[in-house]
Amino acid sequence: MFGVTVRIVLLGPPGAGKGSLASLYEARLGIAHISTGDIFRQEIARHSALGRRVQRCVSSGRLVSDALVVEIMAARLDRRALARGFVLDGFPRTQPQAAGLDRVLKRTRAPLDAAVYLTSSVPVLIRRLSGRRVCVRCGANYHVRTMRPRHPGRCDHCRGPLIVRNDDQPATIKKRLVVNQQAARPLVRYYQRRRLLHQVSGAGPIEAVYSRTVKLFQRQGWL
Ligand code: AMP
Repeated sequence: MFGVTVRIVLLGPPGAGKGSLASLYEARLGIAHISTGDIFRQEIARHSALGRRVQRCVSSGRLVSDALVVEIMAARLDRRALARGFVLDGFPRTQPQAAGLDRVLKRTRAPLDAAVYLTSSVPVLIRRLSGRRVCVRCGANYHVRTMRPRHPGRCDHCRGPLIVRNDDQPATIKKRLVVNQQAARPLVRYYQRRRLLHQVSGAGPIEAVYSRTVKLFQRQGWL
């Protein structure tokens, strides 16, 4: 468990392992995992008004508008969430979103502790995304080669069917990587200037990436 409350943003391209890593932090360290992508996919599945607004962007790999994403996260990051601490996965994606997050955190005097950027090569990202399978019911992630379910096509946790995410189709993967590359540089600079940026290699199995980040947390005195 974390000795103190931490507020971390996990940055990196799609397929870098942010979601898997944040799930491990939640399961093993008890730190809340908040993912904008998961929020959007749940809203789309519920056919809610928000789901209908974001559906086109999400399925085509474009980014949802900064104003809408910041509004949703400002509501999600209430006092309780800020006091408990969190790992944000998939937010912020742009520099204006990072500035929006800072405004929310400043209002409640709950500053960010770190921005952890997971680095990865493009061929690795494409391999991970194109082999990814997700559970329709609970959202758990699998991979056709590196993280197979016990029963083919069925989730280990809830037995739900496993599918290819809409935005994990090859053309959309390429689009998402390009979109990310354009937005990432200013975002990285933003956190570099604030001396919050830590780059960690996202290469190899998720357990290896997890160990690297845990060492970082230990060095920072959070564990
Ligand atoms: P992810 O699961 O993080 O890969 O997100 C899936 C999709 O949701 C992205 O390709 C975007 O369309 C949308 N999305 C998620 N987070 C954001 C964000 N912070 N800003 C804009 N769009 C987002």
